[in-house]
Amino acid sequence: MLIFSLLALALLFYLIVMLVRRVSWGGTLLRWLTVVLIADILVGYAGSSKAENHPAALTAAWAVIAGIGLYAVSRPRSRFLEHGTMALTALAGLAPISVVQILLWEPWDVRPTIHVDAPHREPANRIPVFLFVFDEWSYQRSYDGDELRPFFHNLRQLASHSLEFTNAHSLAGSTDPSVLRLVFQRGGVLQPKNGVAVWEQGDSAVPPAKLPSIFSAAGRRGYRTSLIGFYFPYRAVLGDQVEQIVNAAYAPKGEHLRERIGWAFARNLGFLADPLSQFLWQQWNSGTISRNWVRVNHSWRVAVRDLIRRSDANTFAMIHWPLPHGPYVLNEDGTFHGAFQRGRMEGTPPDYQRHLAFLDLVLGEIVAELDTAGLLDRALLIVTSDHSWKAEPDSSLRAVPGARTWVPLIVKLPHQTAGYRVRERFCLGQVGALLQRVMDTTLTARSELREVGGLSSSTTCIQDVEPADKDNE
Ligand SMILES: [Zn+2]
Repeated sequence: MLIFSLLALALLFYLIVMLVRRVSWGGTLLRWLTVVLIADILVGYAGSSKAENHPAALTAAWAVIAGIGLYAVSRPRSRFLEHGTMALTALAGLAPISVVQILLWEPWDVRPTIHVDAPHREPANRIPVFLFVFDEWSYQRSYDGDELRPFFHNLRQLASHSLEFTNAHSLAGSTDPSVLRLVFQRGGVLQPKNGVAVWEQGDSAVPPAKLPSIFSAAGRRGYRTSLIGFYFPYRAVLGDQVEQIVNAAYAPKGEHLRERIGWAFARNLGFLADPLSQFLWQQWNSGTISRNWVRVNHSWRVAVRDLIRRSDANTFAMIHWPLPHGPYVLNEDGTFHGAFQRGRMEGTPPDYQRHLAFLDLVLGEIVAELDTAGLLDRALLIVTSDHSWKAEPDSSLRAVPGARTWVPLIVKLPHQTAGYRVRERFCLGQVGALLQRVMDTTLTARSELREVGGLSSSTTCIQDVEPADKDNE
């Protein structure tokens, strides 16, 4: 497929060159086109990620660079043409080198299910575990003091018979590496390589599937493990540690071949700086990403519902749900509000609150579904987030120490009937110990509260700002 696309592209360029050369002034036109296109690619690749929300700046830079190039080419005694041709001829060698590299790319492991031999699986009398990791969910935007804001009807109901942490902190200020640090209960970062990934921590780099995780801890105890996850290539990261994985990417890849080709083509327009490509790309990007967001959230509702319906006391499940994460295109009931206009992560407080209200709605569905399945009372249910609102527009909220990692955390222990506030600082690096103690029934609703606060942490939560943190999703 890849070879076919590359050959088709080469043929297309060849035909264009042949066609242009047929006319008398074709040579000059070809030179101009080359200059304009090179400026397009250079400025586009250098600036597209930085100037995503400023297409006018990108266009201006392209016009200036292309203008200088055209001026230099048009001067009769200029050496620019000679040097330029030489440089391009030398660079032409890069094309076959890149092609060879592209052909050596390995695909990611994406198996949705694997078979796990667990001899001690029966009987099903364990404590079912459901860990919900929402994304971009800010404590400060969800609480008035230490009270959940009034519109969180379902969360408040859940919190009334749960532990409610008012000073919980995630393991990083962005999805990558926060979610995986939670899964592995250690510091470090995932580094993608060719078809595989390695976990880098200090000087060590190991395949992450070989590291102990919250899933391997559950697997050892005979649990059936499931993960509904977004953004990371979870199977490639966790290997056979998880039996069932439902996965989705942030940028849609298209369902069938024609759509995949079309979308790959459209995505690449984003790397061209000229106004036509930018306009077409903005149109495509905003519409497609926005609709994909509605689709992902809808399919998560279905996947979580199906997961709960086939769950029993042997279930250990983690759900990484991209709410209230942008683009802010959802209504409070999850229907389509409209495509985003500027950056896909930009939103106003009312936009953010719409997504918070939808988060509360899906939380209500989850609790009701668990109740219907007869699992709510006996389950350990954890609801938290990977970090807070990164694009928080209020600078006074951003300035609060640890604002980026300050997240809601609600923990309903098995058979818990009363609600308690935990005001001590709690790090999500303590979740591994919490899970194990509850699975082993050495921590129960009858345990002393201070036992929870005193759980050992496998890794530390970063105290305040994280200057080295990548500014991604
Ligand atoms: Zn995130």
